[in-house]
Amino acid sequence: MAEFSIIDQYFKRPSKPDVSLGIGDDSAIVTPPPSQQLVICTDTLVAGRHFPLDTSAHAIGWKSVAVNLSDLAAMGAKPHSILLALSLPTVDHDWLAEFSRGLFDCCDRFGVALIGGDTTQSTQLTISVTALGWIEHGQAITRSGAQVGDYICVSGQIGDAAYGLQHLGHPLQQRLDYPTPRCHLGQQLKGLASSMIDISDGLAQDLSHILKASKLGAKLLLDQLPIDESLKSIDLRQAWHYALAGGDDYELCFTISPQNYEKLLRQHLDVPLTIIGEIAQQTGLLFEYMGEICPLDVHGYQHFA
Ligand code: ADP
Ligand code: MG
Repeated sequence: MAEFSIIDQYFKRPSKPDVSLGIGDDSAIVTPPPSQQLVICTDTLVAGRHFPLDTSAHAIGWKSVAVNLSDLAAMGAKPHSILLALSLPTVDHDWLAEFSRGLFDCCDRFGVALIGGDTTQSTQLTISVTALGWIEHGQAITRSGAQVGDYICVSGQIGDAAYGLQHLGHPLQQRLDYPTPRCHLGQQLKGLASSMIDISDGLAQDLSHILKASKLGAKLLLDQLPIDESLKSIDLRQAWHYALAGGDDYELCFTISPQNYEKLLRQHLDVPLTIIGEIAQQTGLLFEYMGEICPLDVHGYQHFA
C-alpha cells in the first residue's frame, strides 16, 4: 500500500479553523493568535524501549501524543496541533486503525489537530511526534525560576507507571499506557508557579533539573509523596524507588510561593496537588522522613545507560 493511501485512510481528518492548510501539501500553515508565542517540542517513542512490545496499538497512539502535550503543559502552554513522523516495519491495517484511533482520542480530548507528518518504512517501529502550542508573550514557565522558600508540588500520584511496568496486568498498567497530560493545570499555573517540569524520567531526576537550572537545592518530604494504595503495602524503600526513580508518570512538578499556592487553591483544579518539599539555598537534594534526614541514593531513567 502506498504511503499516500495510508495517510488518507488513517490520518487525514477535518482540521481546525486556524489551520489554513493541513495534511496534503509540502508544509502546514497555521495562523498564530495575535501576540502569542509558539511553544514547540518533540518526543520519540521506540518500540521495546519506550513501551513494552505487546502494548496495544491504541495505547501507543494515545501515549505518543500525551507525552508531547505533557511537555507543552510543563511550560504552561495551550496545546494546538501535532505532526507525526511514523516509521513502520510493515503495513498492518488492524494496527494502523487502532493506533490512529488512540492518537485521535488523545488529540480530541485536548482539542489538538494533526496537521502533518511523515510516513516511512524501517525495521523498528518508531513514532516521533512534534507538538505546537501557544502562550502569551513572556508567560512560559521554565525550569529556572525557583526561589528559596517556594513549595515543591506535584500533581496526581507518582510511581504508578513504574509499578505498572513491573506488574503488567495490574490496574496501574493503565497509568503507564494512558498517561494524562496535565494541560489544564499547566495553564492555570501561568503567573503563579516559579518553575515547572513534567515528570518523565522520575521525580528525583526531573526535580534536580529544576534545582540545577535555578542554582538552588531542596528538601523532599518522603512521608508526603502522593503514592497509590498498592505502593503503600510494599517495602517502604521499594515504594520510594518507584515514586522517585520510576519514569513515565507525566505529572507536573512545580515550585510556587506560599502566597501563590493559596491563590491557586481558589481555582477549580481537575487534579489533586501535594506539597512534597521546599526549595532551599544549599544545593543538592535532601530527603527527610518523619522529621529525620534520610540518606537515599536515587537514579532516574538514563537514556544511554
Ligand atoms: P513531502 O514528500 O513533501 O515531504 P509527504 O509525501 O511526505 O510530503 O507527505 C504528504 C502530506 O502528508 C504532507 O502534508 C505531510 O505532512 C502529510 N503526512 C505524511 N505522513 C503523515 C502522517 N503519518 N501523519 C500525518 N500527516 C502525514
Ligand atoms: Mg514536499
